[in-house]
Amino acid sequence: MLRPTRARIDLGRLRRNAALARRLAPASRVLAVIKADAYGHGAVPVAQALEPLCEGMAVATLEEASALREAGIRAPLLLLEGVFGAGELPIAAELDLMLVVHQQEQLGWLREARLSRPLHCWLKVDTGMHRLGFAPAQLPAAWQTLSACASVAGPIVLCSHLGNAEAAASERTGEQIRRMDAAAASLPESVPQSLANSAALLNHPRTHRDWVRPGYLLFGDSPLPPGAAHPALAELAPVMRFESTVIAVREIERGEAVGYGERWIAQRPSRIATVAAGYADGYPCNPGPGACALIGGRPAPLAGRVSMDMLMLDVTALPPVQPGDPVLLWGDGLAVGEVARRAGTIGYELLAGMPARVPRLIEDSP
Ligand SMILES: *Cc1c(COP(=O)(O)O)cnc(C)c1O
Repeated sequence: MLRPTRARIDLGRLRRNAALARRLAPASRVLAVIKADAYGHGAVPVAQALEPLCEGMAVATLEEASALREAGIRAPLLLLEGVFGAGELPIAAELDLMLVVHQQEQLGWLREARLSRPLHCWLKVDTGMHRLGFAPAQLPAAWQTLSACASVAGPIVLCSHLGNAEAAASERTGEQIRRMDAAAASLPESVPQSLANSAALLNHPRTHRDWVRPGYLLFGDSPLPPGAAHPALAELAPVMRFESTVIAVREIERGEAVGYGERWIAQRPSRIATVAAGYADGYPCNPGPGACALIGGRPAPLAGRVSMDMLMLDVTALPPVQPGDPVLLWGDGLAVGEVARRAGTIGYELLAGMPARVPRLIEDSP
């Protein structure tokens, strides 16, 4: 008998979300972003499902890329921050990776390198997020250096990242788009471009360019703020179903406290269900006011602090609950983004933070 806490991963939904991403940008190639173990879903099964549906995939580290190659993934793979040192270049060449090149030192490493094969590079320009990328004024020189490198294979893709694409109308996004256009125009030849993440895929068609780079959206939750209206949002289906079961039920008197620190006091005689999932399973330690889980599709409010391996629900208002009853922590009807907002964070953090302790159950729906 296994502990019933698990993340069920529906690859059929993943494929449908990926198909939606393509429909949103029909003229663009799709680079599926699957860093951080595919946002906690399991990089290998996710990459296997997505490989026939996209033109490439992106990860953050050489280790992530290497694990995919070892699992037999042959698709183009981009390292989103490029290499962190010259020593990674021969391995990147061995694994046949594409590199983001975002600063001067990386250019130097490439110039000095003698590699088993030339690498495809994405040259990053900082259009205003100020995280990575060459300043627009330095871009033409960087492009010249890169194009002249024996260890670089063309064509070089010009890329940048948007800081606030989730806002439907942002002057800064408009300014970033203008700077991207100017950056492209500053190069001696026309180059493929990439700018859009999930939010831009939905909000800003002008950013779609040659390659779109959706991540979060592939996993079926909205990357936009709550209440944002976009017709495609209704088509997204959550890929992860984080679930556990009730392992104990008790009745307590009015005035009794539940959990650590006496943080929840029964205002009436109450029925409390204990669930076998806690913050060591990736549930937020501070889930915030109004947090709930679903039992039989009905919301049951959290009662008391979340423990390391357990949490308690107030099921007084629900039909009788028994040990063994399934509990949905997030998934259908309870979006991970909604759980995250109550907890003062974002769905990205909860998904990427899912610990290895929670088994991923890979399922395939038609
Ligand atoms: C993570 C990442 C993405 C994907 O972002 P989502 O919001 O998950 O779609 C795209 N581009 C870059 C450079 C990233 O780091």
